[in-house]
Amino acid sequence: MDEPQDAPAQSLSKSPADGSGTSGPTFSRRDLLKLTFSGGAGLALDGFLDVSAVRAATKDLKLSDVSEFTTSCNFCSCGCGMIAAVRNGKLLTMEGDYDHIVNRGSLCVKGISMFSTHTSPNRLTTPRYRAPGSDHWEDISWDDAIDRVAKKIRKTRDETWIAAEKVNAPDLVVDDATGDRIQSAPRFVPQADVDKEVPVNRTDAIGFMGGAQNTNEECYLFQKAARLLGLPYVEHQARL
Ligand code: SF4
Repeated sequence: MDEPQDAPAQSLSKSPADGSGTSGPTFSRRDLLKLTFSGGAGLALDGFLDVSAVRAATKDLKLSDVSEFTTSCNFCSCGCGMIAAVRNGKLLTMEGDYDHIVNRGSLCVKGISMFSTHTSPNRLTTPRYRAPGSDHWEDISWDDAIDRVAKKIRKTRDETWIAAEKVNAPDLVVDDATGDRIQSAPRFVPQADVDKEVPVNRTDAIGFMGGAQNTNEECYLFQKAARLLGLPYVEHQARL
């Protein structure tokens, strides 16, 4: 809707301090805008303000020395992709990754607030250990934590290792005689009262758990590590 050309002037000046009641010059909003634009243009023309240089400098200030890293939201199992902007090792911002196949840049309210988990004063930044019988936790180094976990895995694995088990193992047979694709498919043939000892090489005493923030590549390595250790129980946070 058009604004009236001669709208009543809205005073932008204060009444004189002497209380004479004589008001000073008045400006409408339109006048103020004209003054602002013409003043800016005048400054630019006079060489006081190089607009393109200012824009370039602002752009540089915002993006200079900033590296972007992709990561995943750590809250739920959707695994929404995020981009973390980092300058000099300091996390500056986190936002949804528009190229991520799961969320295409969008984040729910939990994901949007993920930056606060990074800046929270309650965030743990070192491993912690509570000794048996102790009533408090103490900070330990990563080397110490890795050493403790490795020793416990080794001890538990050695004490609970199952190398072989007796099972009623039916033979896998292939019936080539029929020539029928379905009928000739490999199938198990149950055998009554036949226990066979088969190698299983596992421990049921340790479980391995991943989380929603782990990438496919990390999960691949987790699976490798778990299977090499002989752990059949590999779980994911989202299934609990
Ligand atoms: S942004 Fe929301 S939906 Fe996506 S992984 Fe995080 S918590 Fe889950």
